[in-house]
Amino acid sequence: MKTITAAFIATISMAVPAAAQDFTEEDIAAAMRFSMSDAAYTMYHEIGHLLVNELGIPVLGKEEDAADALAVLMLLNDDSDDQSYVRLVDAADGWYFKAQQVELSSMSQLGFVSAHSLGIQRAYAMACLMLGKDQEYFGHVGDFYKIDQDTRDSCAYTYEQTNAAWTTLLAPHLVTDEPNAEIEIVYEEPGEGYEIYLRALKDARILEHAAELVTSTYLLPRPIVFRAEMCDEPNAFYSHSGEVIYCYELAEDMAHLYLTDVIYYYPSNEEEVEEEKTVEDEEYVEEEEADAERGGTSAG
Ligand SMILES: [Zn+2]
Repeated sequence: MKTITAAFIATISMAVPAAAQDFTEEDIAAAMRFSMSDAAYTMYHEIGHLLVNELGIPVLGKEEDAADALAVLMLLNDDSDDQSYVRLVDAADGWYFKAQQVELSSMSQLGFVSAHSLGIQRAYAMACLMLGKDQEYFGHVGDFYKIDQDTRDSCAYTYEQTNAAWTTLLAPHLVTDEPNAEIEIVYEEPGEGYEIYLRALKDARILEHAAELVTSTYLLPRPIVFRAEMCDEPNAFYSHSGEVIYCYELAEDMAHLYLTDVIYYYPSNEEEVEEEKTVEDEEYVEEEEADAERGGTSAG
């Protein structure tokens, strides 16, 4: 843990100059957990695209919304991952805090005709499905997002409807006694400073667990590759060649988001909260906006 912390502080000191020295090991660990939660959600989102395309699943409305919904359902219904509910809260927060940074800053960046719904809508859609499945566990999420009780109750219907739709459409593709096609996991060489994200992905078994979940549940028509690599942008993709790509830059981007924004809403030391919101933080936000204009940080 010590070496990860030292390496991490070295890599974030340029991107997050305001308080790089002030972060504790707990802060760094929380940032990495947050990043890996988003990685899990992102993989399931891309798996949504993969299932739609590989299995020929019909989609009403935006495929991006369908992929988001499947990602939430896979985490809500994954009994083999005891972190899956925590991952959901983190991933929804990821969209929420990204939206605070980017979408509220400029109307021109709102992307009304984007294939994706707005980040803030994606966060609330996730929160609704989470509340629909388990209102008690996710009650604090409903409080944070200021979702009233009537809406929380109606989210139960949204969850049931969405879950039933996906379950019905995927039922013909459940595994049988037939041998299934395999999913190969490939870790490409990370760039300088990104080794910690390769290690974090492997330690948390994000790609491996997602692959096991898919091949143990659905019959795939051909072999698939899950690949982690450098992409020159914080993103993830499903390729029609049968690959899901997860970019190391996205892991870094989400760890930075935690340290620049999310951490102030889950402070370990209440007294430091006001002081730590400094001018340097705002400069980093501007960099984030420029990043967003170059291609976005949203899962592809
Ligand atoms: Zn997508």
